Amino acid sequence: ASFGNLSDRLATTFKNLRGKGKLSPADVDGTVREIRRALLDADVALDVVKEFTGRVRERALSDEVSKALNPAQQVVQIVNDELITILGGQQRRLEFSKQPPTVIMLAGLQGAGKTTLAGKLAKWLAKDGHTPILVAADLQRPNAVTQLQVVGSQAGVPVFAPEPGNGVGNPVRVAKDAIKYAKDKQHDVVIVDTAGRLGVDAEMMKQAADIRKAINPDEVLFVIDAMIGQDAVATAKAFQAGVDFTAVVLSKLDGDARGGAALSVASVTGRPIIFASTGESLDDFEPFHPDRMASRILDLGDIMSLIEQAQSAFDEEESRKVAEKFATDTFTLEDFLSQMQQLKKMGSLKNMLGMLPGARGMKEQLENFDESELTRTEAIIQSMTPTERRTPKLLNGSRRARIARGAGTTVTEVNGLVNRFEQAAKMMKTVAKGGMPNIPGMGPI
Ligand code: GDP
Repeated sequence: ASFGNLSDRLATTFKNLRGKGKLSPADVDGTVREIRRALLDADVALDVVKEFTGRVRERALSDEVSKALNPAQQVVQIVNDELITILGGQQRRLEFSKQPPTVIMLAGLQGAGKTTLAGKLAKWLAKDGHTPILVAADLQRPNAVTQLQVVGSQAGVPVFAPEPGNGVGNPVRVAKDAIKYAKDKQHDVVIVDTAGRLGVDAEMMKQAADIRKAINPDEVLFVIDAMIGQDAVATAKAFQAGVDFTAVVLSKLDGDARGGAALSVASVTGRPIIFASTGESLDDFEPFHPDRMASRILDLGDIMSLIEQAQSAFDEEESRKVAEKFATDTFTLEDFLSQMQQLKKMGSLKNMLGMLPGARGMKEQLENFDESELTRTEAIIQSMTPTERRTPKLLNGSRRARIARGAGTTVTEVNGLVNRFEQAAKMMKTVAKGGMPNIPGMGPI
């Protein structure tokens, strides 16, 4: 959601190009200027914007575009490529130590979301068969230890903390003891939460650097609140100079601030973004994929994430069938209904719908979306005959009126549902065909 405005601006820019058979240098300049303004208004750092637009401009003026069948589409493709590049290119995975435990240290300002992230990461790792332990090396804030204990119990993961009543304690010592403890108890991942301050401050930085030196972590994750805007770059640079980090975690990506931080940090620090945090619940967390994020920004949809989320809720057999149906254009409203019923198991439908291509265009519906809409949608589909569900083309005006009456709703709502369904099915089909090579567990589509 952080990129709402940016997405809208880029969409308008591209819309102005559409239908042009050839792009003149003036068209390219105009487009690049619009992109530049949109990025700056989204709080993307100036240096990053300059580099980005420079590359887009150069490529947009090259043969790559002038020889393309559809120059406008080609420009979207270029912007997509370059967005992926500034977001770090390839997905970066967590590095595990060959000799466990793998030590992961978290650093960042107070309120950035470190403690929450510790819980999210631990839960995610535990689900994957790891045996993580959380370490409270934030002894600055009086209730930081308690907060980590709460998060730990939510995640079902133990927390190593200094005995209460021992005064302020020494975080370096706690971190070292924790690693020894983890070795003894066979915890294969140690996640060390460290103290933050509201602003960058030398003492905090030194403490973090001391912890780092003492425990020699495999990963140092710098957690940054995606909503802090222009300050992001300076903060990231300060942490890089003070502690250095191996990767970045963007938190609060669910917020509606401008989000430029997200687009600047990887470029400015040369460190990849590894995870994204998208809400307060421990499940609002995912590995970061530059290409998927670019697609979301450009409103090309994030089908891969959608499918993965679906996979975790559906069994493999089911997922395979659905993918096949998309590819062969045999996905029906009946399937849609049964999927929706399954979806109820998997948390926020709103988040999921937001990943569909064109979701920006349905912004208002999404914002006003309440989960009871699901019930209404079910009612609409249930008012259809089985034949209608399988062949939505049959749905003429009188059938739609009958269905609306049956579901206690309006024809407009019925139309809306059918349109959404058709768009989604079409898009899924294209994507499925356009090569989603070998999704694990699904086989090549
Ligand atoms: P810390 O000081 O860096 O340890 O930050 P906390 O983990 O205590 O998080 C600060 C606040 O941000 C808490 O109220 C969290 O619930 C909230 N928070 C953390 N991550 C997210 C996120 O991804 N989205 C949203 N909306 N809130 C978050």
